Amino acid sequence: MRILVLSDVHANLAALEAVLVMAGPFSQAWCLGDVVGYGPDPDACIERLRSLDLRCLAGNHDRAAVGMLSVAEFNPDARAAALWTRSRISPPNGDWLKTLPAMSVVTELDVTLVHGSPVDPIWEYVIDPGAARAGFEAIGTRLCLNGHTHVPIVFRASDRGSVGPGERPRNGKPTPIGRGRLLINPGSVGQPRDGDPRAAFAILDTDAMTLTHHRVDYDLASTQGRMRAAGLPRSLINRLVFGR
Ligand code: ZN
Repeated sequence: MRILVLSDVHANLAALEAVLVMAGPFSQAWCLGDVVGYGPDPDACIERLRSLDLRCLAGNHDRAAVGMLSVAEFNPDARAAALWTRSRISPPNGDWLKTLPAMSVVTELDVTLVHGSPVDPIWEYVIDPGAARAGFEAIGTRLCLNGHTHVPIVFRASDRGSVGPGERPRNGKPTPIGRGRLLINPGSVGQPRDGDPRAAFAILDTDAMTLTHHRVDYDLASTQGRMRAAGLPRSLINRLVFGR
């Protein structure tokens, strides 16, 4: 079975559509949160994702968009985008966002799905081995997939539980996931922050037991144009070009 793993779509429909084309056929999609926030197309992204066989988590931006989390915790640009999103989102889509869990376990595949970290599913950024190790200790599954940092990375625990520096995955090169404990971030569809502006995602192959990271170009200018028309903050528009 091929499973599309994606995160941090951030209401960027052009990026999401490019990912869905490049992904090829898949049986299920797992979305690790932050469907909305920052970008110009929150309703369209929710509806596109809901048209798939989808398992979806809540991110901090999803919670903020429906008033479940205070925007006071956001920086000024993120706050402005969150309030814009809140004013635009349709009531049924808002109701759907409210149903999303912060964490989910796929027992048959021995994997935990989370937006931030197993320790703090909504807010914690797993950027170093210490946070990854604490994450492994907080869950019972062998594998964990997370988002939130917008940076594709693979953390591996040794048999003794120590965790080395995160490995930056090579695009198109499968990472074997059949042994050991791994915590893997697919990167961000709609607002990458690793210096590569292309949309990021991963394919989990449960027959080969591999996870493969991918990048795909999308019509970035059209997303920027829609953000400009929506009056979203200039810094959020500009950063898409740099992937930062
Ligand atoms: Zn995010």
